[in-house]
Amino acid sequence: MAKQRQSIDPSDSRESPPNFSPARGKVFLVGAGPGDAGLITWRGVECLRRADVVLYDYLVNPAILRHASSNAELICLGRHRATPEKTSGDRIWGQSEINEQLVKRARQGRRVVRLKGGDPIVFGRLAEEAAALDAAGVDYEIVPGITAALAAGSYAGIWITQRDNASAVAFITGHEGDSDNAPPLDYAAIAAFPGTLVFYMGVTTAREWTAALIAAGKSADTPAAIVRRCSWPDQSMVRCTLGTVVQQIATARLRPPVIVIVGDWIDSAAAESWFTRRPLFGKRILLTRPIDRTDALWQPLTELGAECLVQPAIEISPTDDWRPVDAALARLAEFDWLVFSSVNGVQFLLDRLFATGGDVRKLAGIKLAAIGPGTSEELAKYHLRVDGQPPEVYRAEALAELLAEDARGKKFLLARASRGREVVAETLRAAGAAVEQIVVYRSTDVAQPDPEIAAALKAGRIDWTTVTSSAIAHSLAKLFGEDLRKTKIVSISPVTSATLRELGFEPAAEATQYTMEGVVATILTATSTE
Ligand code: SAH
Repeated sequence: MAKQRQSIDPSDSRESPPNFSPARGKVFLVGAGPGDAGLITWRGVECLRRADVVLYDYLVNPAILRHASSNAELICLGRHRATPEKTSGDRIWGQSEINEQLVKRARQGRRVVRLKGGDPIVFGRLAEEAAALDAAGVDYEIVPGITAALAAGSYAGIWITQRDNASAVAFITGHEGDSDNAPPLDYAAIAAFPGTLVFYMGVTTAREWTAALIAAGKSADTPAAIVRRCSWPDQSMVRCTLGTVVQQIATARLRPPVIVIVGDWIDSAAAESWFTRRPLFGKRILLTRPIDRTDALWQPLTELGAECLVQPAIEISPTDDWRPVDAALARLAEFDWLVFSSVNGVQFLLDRLFATGGDVRKLAGIKLAAIGPGTSEELAKYHLRVDGQPPEVYRAEALAELLAEDARGKKFLLARASRGREVVAETLRAAGAAVEQIVVYRSTDVAQPDPEIAAALKAGRIDWTTVTSSAIAHSLAKLFGEDLRKTKIVSISPVTSATLRELGFEPAAEATQYTMEGVVATILTATSTE
């Protein structure tokens, strides 16, 4: 089995908090932040991990829901942003219905998380939910979140306060019509406000609120910034003036969620923020490795600004017959070398060794070889140091060549996948070695692509697709066929490129270092010279 990732979350090792009234249930009103999945608070994540039910706004980044347990019931309170067409039959829940559901589910004794975009209070109708819970005698906790105005400060680089100019900030709703009881905004007071104005929900009502502000004496030339989908991979910003907000919204066809920031000093900020300046900002990259293998690409590419989508092309699972593996492990002392050509090989073989009662002492005396640095690093996690790894080129030929130098009369055990190349075994046998191969994991093609990803590819909305092995190349060709021509392919190595060419697909770029870091570096270089 794949090794569980070690968590550094201290809350994992703590006891669950004492549950004073297990039968009563509780509601957690949690701010999810503005979009970027990293902008939820630690407390918010803790609540999600222990939730039995999660009711979430459709503006919440679905990636945040991964923190919920797989047993939790997930309920979207409205259309999902990414698939408006397909779920047009869905409706957005009414407030009273939400209140009722919160009460009902908490009364079932469940831990209910109500996940709301940004901060749960700021224009979040939290008062109504809290009142309903109070009235029903249901316990609740409120977990704050990063509201859109603050996210715009950081992610769009707009200084919403400034030591010399802006000593106050006002959060204002541009959408007053929601409630008959809402007091009308006092535009004279807002126009005279000595600080930055941040308008939420002001897209459809832009004509009214900008005109009202100008009529109340705010100069039409006051600098403004319209920030859309702040902290999402498609964040955009238009700078203009109060007088041209309406026109800019129309020209750029801006749809919610948008906030508009108005203030005399805000044009002192740079046109590009650190967020949109990142080298891969705006690029959509498809990762195709097995789902628990994507981190090595996902982490660096996301930090460089790319939006990463994941469509595993192959699935990795344990071998369906451990008997040959167990037999070889029992005779380990007979072998001179144990050879690994993948991280998976390391994990599946060593986990099996431990699961069957062995430990690292069984490996005493046997030399260890790895195909490249990733595999060596995986061995290091088990406190094992490699005796042989090709120095520069991380491919089967290089590994075989290295080992063949002193192979005559030696015995090699190769831990491998259910399919793959025979280069190492053949080369070593030719060099006079005895070679035994054991299949420690199975690699199978994924049969069906995710329909959203298939549609994005077809529409040419995926800039790069990573192809990190020949097996992945074959599977992708089957999954997507001709649509693969609508994306640029980055290949990890000449071997993978050759497979791609055999399949009729020319890679746009090929890594010079045959590792995940190499793939990242190659995309970066190709993008900077575009
Ligand atoms: N509770 C939320 C606000 C809910 S009202 C918060 O604290 O942010 C919904 C409005 O919030 C949207 O119409 C838009 O004005 C603003 N908003 C939310 N997320 C946003 C984002 N990522 N970028 C820009 N505006 C956003």
